[in-house]
Amino acid sequence: MPKRPATQSTLTLDEQIAQAEAVFTSIGDAAIATDQFGKITRVNPVAVELLGFTEEELVGEWYPRKVVAVTEHNIPINLIDRPITKAFLTGKSIAEKMYYRKHDGENIPVSVNVSPIIMGAKPVGAIEVFRDISFEEEVDRMKSEFISLASHQLRTPLSSIKTYSHMLLDGYMGEMTPAQKKSLRTIIGASNRMNELISTLLNITRIESGRIAVTPKNLRVERVADEVIKELALLAADRNISVDLIAKNKQGYTVKTDTLILKEIITNLVSNAIKYTPVDGTVTIHISTRGDKLQVSVSDTGWGIPQYAHDQVFTKFFRASNVVKRETAGTGLGLYLVKGLLENLGGRIWFTSIEGKGTTFYFTLPKRFNPDRPAPKPAGGP
Ligand code: ADP
Repeated sequence: MPKRPATQSTLTLDEQIAQAEAVFTSIGDAAIATDQFGKITRVNPVAVELLGFTEEELVGEWYPRKVVAVTEHNIPINLIDRPITKAFLTGKSIAEKMYYRKHDGENIPVSVNVSPIIMGAKPVGAIEVFRDISFEEEVDRMKSEFISLASHQLRTPLSSIKTYSHMLLDGYMGEMTPAQKKSLRTIIGASNRMNELISTLLNITRIESGRIAVTPKNLRVERVADEVIKELALLAADRNISVDLIAKNKQGYTVKTDTLILKEIITNLVSNAIKYTPVDGTVTIHISTRGDKLQVSVSDTGWGIPQYAHDQVFTKFFRASNVVKRETAGTGLGLYLVKGLLENLGGRIWFTSIEGKGTTFYFTLPKRFNPDRPAPKPAGGP
């Protein structure tokens, strides 16, 4: 019979410590262990090499102070928002992407995973494993650049298709038969959808590469909502859906934010509400204030979002089975885009939904856009 390998119980205490040390040192990614106060107790060679500090410079130091974490805009991340703090507070493993400032002042993008070390139900420290993701970031940037270029190139031929279809429909090249007109309307509808898809893709690449430009201006939210209702009136009339606006404050709701981005957000939510509501339903936009923030909700009396899908609706390309079954058109990109846009304005989105009864999406926005609090870069979806 083959001899069984030695188990820990056959090792002396010194041997066990040496073995634990060897395991820690051999981790292929950077690894840093801290005590329960966040003081560094151990670092492995990969961490030393990546951060550019010596082991002596790190061990014994308070981790959040020694290794500064920053956003992609080089703004230091507050202690409370650092994964190590969240891991201590929640007792759970936390995974995030951020930038670490090296000893020489250079920032490197890192993927961080921190787990609390629990002994006897008490956190006695944490272990953080992180790796340099510069290469993945570069590939991501190239992918975004490609999508952006391809989308721009698609716009030119698309605009010719639209222009000539309109000219044919309007009789510039001779009178069309009713059947020909019907086909032309289908072509125009399809080119409009393609145009919207191109805009969505362009917006997503901008968000993912952190290139979204926010131009804050004082605006009245109820006016923006009103414009959206007018633009979507045909879509709503097609299904005999009434779209109502509730904005009780007589002085209106003024916020300082980006008009086009806000309009894109409301348009996406209202068009979803119309699209996913059966004929004769109702969609209601409600504007209010919530503390120092503005709140907008969009409710519908539609098919709702099944419980299983609640965690997934904001992920890229996700569409719930109840709407796919009904063969409604969609890409699953709208809400992913809305969430990214809102984060860029400093806002937040959530929803409640009961299948078969309806859905309400809520979002809040700061009354004044704060350029010093840019959004974190989204993970990129699945
Ligand atoms: P799309 O509408 O193009 O499919 P979205 O990202 O806008 O993509 O929405 C993702 C999914 O979330 C939809 O496919 C649908 O399953 C669900 N959803 C969004 N809004 C609603 C709504 N108002 N009512 C029911 N389901 C919704």
